[in-house]
This record gives sequence, C-alpha cells and structure tokens, in this order.
Amino acid sequence: MDLTFTKEEEEFRRRLRTWLRETLPKLPAKPPPDQWPARRAYDCAWQRALYDAGYAGLHWPTDAGGQGATPTQHLIFLEETELAGAPYVGANFVGLLHAGPTIAVEGTAEQRARWLPPILRGEEVWCQGFSEPDAGSDLASLRTRAVRDSDAYIVTGSKIWTSHAEVADWCELLVRTDASAPRHRGISWLAMPMDAPGVTVRPLRTLAGSTEFAELFLDEVRIPLSHRVGAENDGWRVTMVTLSYERGTAFVGEVVACRRTLARLARTAKENGRWDDAVLRRRLGRLNAEFGALWRLTQWNVSAAERTSPGGGSAVPGVGGSVFKLRYSEARQELYEAAAEVIGPEALDAGHPWTADRLSALSYTIAAGTSQIQQNIIAERILGLPKGR
Ligand SMILES: Cc1cc2nc3c(=O)[nH]c(=O)nc-3n(C[C@H](O)[C@H](O)[C@H](O)COP(=O)(O)OP(=O)(O)OC[C@H]3O[C@@H](n4cnc5c(N)ncnc54)[C@H](O)[C@@H]3O)c2cc1C
Repeated sequence: MDLTFTKEEEEFRRRLRTWLRETLPKLPAKPPPDQWPARRAYDCAWQRALYDAGYAGLHWPTDAGGQGATPTQHLIFLEETELAGAPYVGANFVGLLHAGPTIAVEGTAEQRARWLPPILRGEEVWCQGFSEPDAGSDLASLRTRAVRDSDAYIVTGSKIWTSHAEVADWCELLVRTDASAPRHRGISWLAMPMDAPGVTVRPLRTLAGSTEFAELFLDEVRIPLSHRVGAENDGWRVTMVTLSYERGTAFVGEVVACRRTLARLARTAKENGRWDDAVLRRRLGRLNAEFGALWRLTQWNVSAAERTSPGGGSAVPGVGGSVFKLRYSEARQELYEAAAEVIGPEALDAGHPWTADRLSALSYTIAAGTSQIQQNIIAERILGLPKGR
C-alpha cells in the first residue's frame, strides 16, 4: 500500500489551497441551521462557486459531467476544504454524494443529461426517500407501492426521516412495484419531483431544534415510467450502489472537522484549568489517536479502492466503509461527551455553540445504517462469520 502523494496530487493540493484562500473571505455569513430555505440558498451558492472553479463533482466520471479526479484527489479536496473552514456540502449531500453518483452509473443517457448538470451547478437539491415507519434497518420490507397506469406509476405510501425534504426538488424514492415477488426482487428506484400533486412534507423537529428531516406522505403521486433508474423490480441492486456511495465516501471529510474540534477543546481545557485533570487529558489523547487512526483508515480504504478500480473517478471504498462508519460515529459521540466535561455546566446551556453539535452527534450511530447493522456487515462480509438469522 502506498499512502504517499504524487507530484500531481501535491500540485492539485497547492492550487486548491490558493483558490480557497482567495475565495473563502468573500463568502457571506452562514444562516443558522434551522433556517432551511436560507441554508439551501447558501449551500447552493457554494456549490455554484465550486462548479465555476472546476471543483464540482470532482470524483464523478467525466462523461457524467464530473472532473474524473482520482479518489486520492477527492480525499485531498475533502481534507483541504475542511482545514480551510469551507462550507460543508449541506443540502447537496444526497445529490452530490449518492443520488447523482447512482444516476451516473445506472441511469440512461437522457437521465444523466436531465439530472446530473443541475446537481453539479447547485440548482437542484435531492433528498432520500428510503426509510419507512416499518422499514429502516430492514429496508427490504418497504411497503410504499407503485402501480402502473399507462406511461406512469401511481405511488401511494409514506416515508420517514427524509433529510432536507423541506427544501428538496427531487427524491430518490424506493417503491414496491411487485408485491408478489420475493421482497428484495419487487422494488424499483424512482426519481420523484417533490412538487408533484399528492406529495405532502411534514417536517419533524429534532432534539437539536432543527427540522432537518421530515415525514413524506404520498397519495396517488403520478411519476412517469421514464423516471425509473434501472430496470423495473431491480431497484434493490441499484440501492446497493446508492448505499455503498453513502457509507463509503459521505462522512470522511468530517473526521478532519472532528480533529479541529478536538484541538479547540484542548485549547479551551488549557485556558479554563481542566487540562490539569490527568484522566481528562488521557481521554482527549485517546480521541486524538482514534481520529488519527480513522483518517489513516480512510486513506487505506481509498488507496485500496483506487488500486482495485483503475478507472479512478467512480471508485468507492467497499465494506471497509462500514468499519469506518461504525468507529467514526461512536468516536464522534465520545468527542462531544468529552467536550461537555471540558466546558462543565455550560454544556447544558442550549445557546452554547457546541450544544447543537453534541445533540446531533447522538443521531450518527443511527443515520445511514445503525451501529448494529454495521457490526452485522463487518461480521458477515469481512470476518466471514455465519449470518445471525
Ligand atoms: C439524522 C438522520 C437522518 C436520516 N436521514 C434519512 C434520509 O434522508 N432518508 C432515509 O430514507 N432515511 C434516513 N434516516 C433513517 C435511517 O436510515 C434509519 O433510522 C436507520 O436505518 C434505522 O432504521 P429505524 O430507525 O427504522 O430503526 P430499526 O430498524 O427499527 O432499528 C431499531 C434498533 O434495532 C436494531 N436492529 C434492527 N435490525 C437489527 C439486526 N438485524 N441486527 C441487530 N440489530 C438490529 C437497530 O440497530 C436499532 O438499534 C435518517 C436517520 C437519522 C437519525
């Protein structure tokens, strides 16, 4: 395994750093997290700036409008943008990191031409309508049904925990197109316009006070057959592509953010005297080692993906992503528990800048597959242990 960077990669890093240094001071202030329409506008303006500078869809294949960069260049991009304090992908998370890449791989030429450019330019926002009240970890038990009516599906059912639904234009939607088939075989992957008649979005307020996700109610929503990505009833296979992008690449930049938070925490502890507590110091030191190891693991996953997929741009870390997701989401929760110890009783103040992050860290071991599900994947697919049931 070679984790050193080539001359081209270092040159890529240098150009990106220069661009970030010139661009970031000109950005407007970021709206608060509960102002979703303003937040969407901010995230999309940042995406447009990336597009104009040639950094949009860096790791997407060139024939899908991306830059065809190697996974290593993508990693450098994530590291440098986070180190520079650049905006996070935000409302464009689903479009850029898993719906878009899925369409790039599985979509027809028309579908790629229709949906990919507006994602790259920050003009259309996507959300993910996979989970249902009785289908989360056991996603294949989903019940939202789609019945053919000439050139369209008529879709009825409900979805839950749909992030960014309030501000999305499109939804990557899983529906059951054959109720009589074995449950993994009767599913299809559709692109649903969020303004279609029959779509109702009911925002859900999180523990941290924001409405970052919502319930969706679908009442005889008409979706053209041409909006189906992949063959009818082959949606489970398409979904595995989506999930491997989601788990494989979506969170890696955040490890850099955690390392920055940890450094701030150590500074605060030195200022307020908590640094004298040897137990706390050891805890911060262990977390530092943990995030360092997670960053190395990311490099290892990316390096492995690059070697096994010489095409470069679309390579995703495979099941190694589950090891990362499991440890990263737990370490992130531990980070904010340590933060609460450093800042003391103020940690209970809803207005403290770290409170919202601490509360939202609780969701990390659930979103994108719970820790138990990641453990099952690691046990079965990496360690080769027998299935539990
Ligand atoms: C912040 C956040 C954002 C989200 N965004 C989206 C989104 O945009 N779109 C979307 O579709 N979904 C989204 N989700 C939903 C998320 O994917 C599900 O919550 C998750 O898959 C778990 O499903 P569930 O909530 O139905 O829990 P359940 O599946 O009911 O699980 C309950 C508990 O049982 C455990 N469990 C279940 N099955 C097993 C098993 N086989 N072995 C061991 N343990 C098991 C689980 O680990 C968990 O602890 C989001 C969730 C969160 C928290």
